[in-house]
Amino acid sequence: MTKLTQIQRNRYKRHIMLSEIGESGQEKLLQAKVLVVGLGGLGSPVAYYLAASGVGTLGIADSDRVDITNLQRQILHSSDTIGILKTESARRTLKNLNPDVKIIKHNERLTTENARQLVSDYDIIVDACDNFETRYVMNDICYELDKPLVHGSIFQFEGRTTVFIPEQGPCYRCLYPERPPEDLIPGDNEIGLLGVLPGVIGTIQATETIKLILGIGTFLAKRMLIYDALNMDFQEIELKVSPECPLCKEKKDIS
Ligand SMILES: [Zn+2]
Repeated sequence: MTKLTQIQRNRYKRHIMLSEIGESGQEKLLQAKVLVVGLGGLGSPVAYYLAASGVGTLGIADSDRVDITNLQRQILHSSDTIGILKTESARRTLKNLNPDVKIIKHNERLTTENARQLVSDYDIIVDACDNFETRYVMNDICYELDKPLVHGSIFQFEGRTTVFIPEQGPCYRCLYPERPPEDLIPGDNEIGLLGVLPGVIGTIQATETIKLILGIGTFLAKRMLIYDALNMDFQEIELKVSPECPLCKEKKDIS
């Protein structure tokens, strides 16, 4: 494992001071490879904090371009990058923040065709996307390849987050066995959303990702945290393996 330079010792000083992290933990972060799927409201704080924390390789996947309606919440992007690909806009912001981080751009949506190739190079996958298809694809490939999946979702004033660890309890399909019918799914720009909401959920996703890399603390696994911003309330619900889940039905519920 490569040793930290003096500049890195300064940059990550406040991490190194924590006994749970130290120099060896910071080296682990610098060696880690994380894929962030979606560079919108959730992906922005996730990628920003992971880059600031010195996660050494960040894959960033999104096929969209920056639009002015994104800027109320998607803090990776700015008025200067309207019209360009979100991956490029994000790369500029993240490189400017921390040149230690290697950024790998994936200008594509995750599909059943490309998922294996995209996901297999990374240690941990962060679900920061905004659609059901991608979530199912991500869930299935992470389950198959045994990669932790750090889930986040947002709706109006409410956010939800959990960590799916294959071998340890439920997966996304246990929670949401079927995709809702098309007419029940609001389009990307058709629902209101409190701009700061994804900041809270995305920051929790980044926290869990860092803890998974370091192997410290208690993970948000087998439980979902539900944040109600309007009433400033956090609740937790226990998650169980579904006997109907096509992936997990063989598995004994160990929760
Ligand atoms: Zn399942």
